[in-house]
Amino acid sequence: MSKTQDTLKKYQSFMMPTYTPSIVLSSGKGVTVRDAEGLALYDFTSGIGVLNVGHCHPKVVKAIQDQAASLTHASNLFANEPATLLAEKLVELSGLGGKAFFCNSGAEANEAAIKLARKWGSANGGRYGIVTMRNGFHGRTLATVAATGQAWCQEGYDPLPYGFSYADFNDLESVKAAVDDKTVAIMLEAVQGEGGVTPATQEFMEGVRALCDEKNLLMICDEVQSGMGRTGDWFAWQGYGVKPDLFTLAKSLAGGLPMGALVSNAKFADVFTPSSHASTFGGNPIAAAAALATISVIEEEHLLDNAKKVGALLKEALQGFVDKYDKLLEVRGKGLMLGLVVDGDPAEIVDALKAQGVLALTARGNVVRFLPPLVLKEGTLDEACEMIDDALDCMFGE
Ligand SMILES: *Cc1c(COP(=O)(O)O)cnc(C)c1O
Repeated sequence: MSKTQDTLKKYQSFMMPTYTPSIVLSSGKGVTVRDAEGLALYDFTSGIGVLNVGHCHPKVVKAIQDQAASLTHASNLFANEPATLLAEKLVELSGLGGKAFFCNSGAEANEAAIKLARKWGSANGGRYGIVTMRNGFHGRTLATVAATGQAWCQEGYDPLPYGFSYADFNDLESVKAAVDDKTVAIMLEAVQGEGGVTPATQEFMEGVRALCDEKNLLMICDEVQSGMGRTGDWFAWQGYGVKPDLFTLAKSLAGGLPMGALVSNAKFADVFTPSSHASTFGGNPIAAAAALATISVIEEEHLLDNAKKVGALLKEALQGFVDKYDKLLEVRGKGLMLGLVVDGDPAEIVDALKAQGVLALTARGNVVRFLPPLVLKEGTLDEACEMIDDALDCMFGE
């Protein structure tokens, strides 16, 4: 039996079947991963938007090693330097003048945002309602599943926490209609990820901000997937020049280690008070050191510019495929967060790409989703695009 078969057999026996992997990964470097047989693949998933600086970036690896050798955990009863410096850095990058709270995942960061909004709302008119967008995605805890207005991830989990209502993304009238006198916040992704790689329109982002100002609501941006340079800005909302009150981060924040963050503006910086919210591992020094190193790499290697530049090239290449193959309908997205809308099952295309050596993702609404590391270079992109073309030609060529 091969190593892959051996591991997958044990996986099926001992891991709950929430996922159905067919590849075992054993190492990675930059944009390339290797499976358990040593076969190299281009990773255009970044581990679902996690490895924005690529696999095992030497600076991130070094930061993890150094921190692991001095302090692996501090608890939140005691401060640690990496987490404190990271909070300062995120507040600075956001330009919102607020504060940060650390946790371990995207769902947990969104839980924190929801709890903060409710805590403020309870003291400001007894409000608790959160309006979220259809086709949005906010995580898998009960509250974030309730926030995710999609039946497929809610089924079987009733009763869900109440207080969530749903509006159509990019439709301001629908958002206005969902707001009532119990509403305290509007939560959205500036670029929807799992829901289909759909960017908000400029008017929509501005409209949501204006509505929040008018009705005294918090605007919460979920930047878990679109954050940390993915779209060519540190945070996707910055690309719209619209400032949220709160935003959340996770996936790529710590360059591959689990970490989540909630960042506020000045107005909401002290809504949480001592012991009103907590997370044992939040601000873990190793994760925080990895995050600081990740941010330095993004700065030093000009990865925001690269995401814009190489993202435009990938978009152009994908548009070329849309022009060439009838079954491909549209390309959308921002920076290196791109979706290819297909007439058919996107999973079949993802399988064909895998057979050619390129890993990609699906998203809802028949979308093949590409989230390559932001360190992607033009030469590698050209090579990967040839592989993508070969896969598409196998499927759709005459
Ligand atoms: C992945 C994702 C989440 C959930 O993050 P987890 O770390 O899996 O809990 C939340 N929001 C968005 C936009 C995401 O893409």
